[in-house]
Order: sequence, then structure tokens, then C-alpha cells
Amino acid sequence: MSTITAAQTVQFIRELYGQPEAFIPLHAPHFVGNEKKYLNECIDSTFVSSVGPFVDRFEAWMREYTGAKYAIAVVNGTAALHLSLQLAGVQRDELVVTQALSFIATCNAISYIGAEPCFVDVDQQTLGMSTAALEAFFSTCEIRNNACYHKATGKRVAACVPMHTFGIAAEIDAIAELCARFYVPLVEDAAESLGTTWKGKHTGRFGLLGAYSFNGNKTVTSGGGGIIITDDDDLGKMAKHLSTQAKVPHRWEFVHDHIGYNYRCPNINSALALAQLEQLERYIEDKQKIASDYERFFANSNWHFFAVDQQCRSNHWLNAILLPTRAERDDFLTYTNDHGVMTRPVWELMHRLSMFAHCMHDGLPNSIDIADRLVNLPSSFRP
Ligand SMILES: *Cc1c(COP(=O)(O)O)cnc(C)c1O
Repeated sequence: MSTITAAQTVQFIRELYGQPEAFIPLHAPHFVGNEKKYLNECIDSTFVSSVGPFVDRFEAWMREYTGAKYAIAVVNGTAALHLSLQLAGVQRDELVVTQALSFIATCNAISYIGAEPCFVDVDQQTLGMSTAALEAFFSTCEIRNNACYHKATGKRVAACVPMHTFGIAAEIDAIAELCARFYVPLVEDAAESLGTTWKGKHTGRFGLLGAYSFNGNKTVTSGGGGIIITDDDDLGKMAKHLSTQAKVPHRWEFVHDHIGYNYRCPNINSALALAQLEQLERYIEDKQKIASDYERFFANSNWHFFAVDQQCRSNHWLNAILLPTRAERDDFLTYTNDHGVMTRPVWELMHRLSMFAHCMHDGLPNSIDIADRLVNLPSSFRP
């Protein structure tokens, strides 16, 4: 095993991006396709808001690309998660089992409903929900009337929300099987994993509903935007209905039959999304090369690079390494950021935030270890 230094890593990243001096961001968007053309079409047509042909084209593209029967465009990934949880039947005071190692949006969406997150550990290889940890949690539950109840609290486990961390697929078929066995609806937080497949099937398609994000820092962006995918006819139609203020279709009457949301993705954002989606495979091809270059660079060193399993085709959204200790991680973060190369630790674990400090968890040994030592590296597509 050789030792690698932060200085060598900075030099390697500068070569990777052909940037001897300029600042290198963690993940920057690029607009080198039909973005300007489609945006001009929007403006010329005056259809910039919540109806328009690009919304339909965005949704059609996502149906075709993922193979899902329904794709509903919404304002952002957080809204996609919120609506998905509601459609899955989650209610106030019920439990939703998820990861403590995730972006805050997962827990926020659960909280909008008034439900309570409970945290299971992540897998050391995939950084997604650990199948073993989920199984251990389910062993503290019982099944009554085709529903899952947590024995100690008597609360229903209303959904399971695994997250495909940094674009690496969680062991999602096994997780889906467990959820089915315990009558727990599966909602995938696929915000980071657009284009990622597990055993040839797109993330977001293993459970009842899946949520994608098109935020500016994701693999492709619509400025702001999200997609809900599902194969369920009722949920697919209801997702569209609830995201558009639950208005009953009529030529002029304003009648609404539910408390709905103004979550519809505007035409102008959908235009941007479509232009970006046209290039997604090219982005992933280049990101794949970046990931294998990182993998080679860190091979045989004591800094562990997160490579993907044979079963997973990753979108390689954000590359990550694990340093030996938290102190070494901090030195690395300081050096790289001081030298114009942006690197970041993983999010603070959810159970350590004041809003979720009271939530149940299983001790989270892997999450805690990873949170101490992980660093994300620059991973932008190179145009
Ligand atoms: C980005 C992200 C979201 C939220 O998406 P927005 O479009 O920013 O609302 C949700 N979950 C995870 C894990 C994310 O990374």
C-alpha cells in the first residue's frame, strides 16, 4: 500500500479537468445542447408557466427512458418526495423508515406529512440502506391486517425510503423484497441517481413510487425540477391531479376535489430538462471515465475509493473516497479547498440534527464511521 498526499490528489484533479490554475467546483452544470433553442421557443410561444408542450415532452422522455408507466413533472425533488409519500398513504404520526445518511430533503418531506422518520444504517459498499439493518428493524415489527406495526410504539410503518447515495444504487431488489414481505410501501429517493440501474432496471422503479431531482447540482438540471415515476394507474393519475391544485377538468369552472398543491413543473424548466436529458447518456459516459480514472489513482492506496458493484450501472454523480481517520479527512478538506479544488464531507447525519434528534435509530455504526471519513471529489461532466 502506498500513501497518497492531498497535494498529489490536487495535481491529479487539475490534470483530470485540464485546469492548471482555475477553481474546480464539485459539480457544475453545462449547457452545450439544445438548451438555448428550447428556452427561446418557450419565450417566443409565451408558454413559460405551468402548461405547455415541453412539460408533456419532459414527462414522455422520462417514461420512455426509465420504462415507468407514469412520469409526473413537479417543481423540485423535495416536492416529488412529499407527494410520493402522501400517495403511498403515509399519515400523521406514522413511522417512515429511512437512512440517517441522506440529504435533509428526505426527512423534510417525511415531516411535511407529520410522519416521523426512523433511521436504519447504510451499507458500507453502496452507501445506501443496508438490507441487513432493514431486516433487523422489521424484526421489531409485527404484521396486522396486511400492515406493518412497530411493536414497542404501536405505530404503523407507513413507508420505507431508501436513497441511492451519490448515484450508486442501493441493494434495491433485496430491499423491495423485504418491504413487500412486511407490507411496507417502498418509495425510492432516486434524486441523485437519474440514469443509474440495478440489474438492468432503473432506480425509482423497484417500489410503488420513485422521486428524481433536476436541481442545479444534480447530474442534469432543469434549474429546479423533479419527477415522480410509478407504474400504478391510480397513483400516476392522482400524482398529476394533486400537483395541479386538484382541479376538476372543465372548460371554465373552477372546481377542486382535494387539497392539492401548486407543484407543477413550469414549461420553461421542462424545456431545460429536455435539452439536458438529450445529453444524459453522453454525460454518464464521461462521468464513467472520470470515475475509473479516480479508481486507478486511488488503487493500492489506503484511501478507499467507492467503486460500483457489477450489478449496478452508476450515473457516477459524485465520486467519493474514505480517508483513514476524521483528522486526515479534515486535513484533506483544508488542503484541497485552500488550493482551489472543491471537496466536501458528507451531510451531517440526520439523527444529529435538532429536529430529528428524538427519532429512533439502530445505532448507525456504518453511517457514523462514513460521516467521519468520507470526502466527495469534483465530478462534473467535461464538455
Ligand atoms: C437533491 C436531493 C433531493 C431534493 O431535490 P431538490 O430538487 O433539490 O428539491 C432529495 N433527496 C436527495 C437525496 C437529494 O440529493
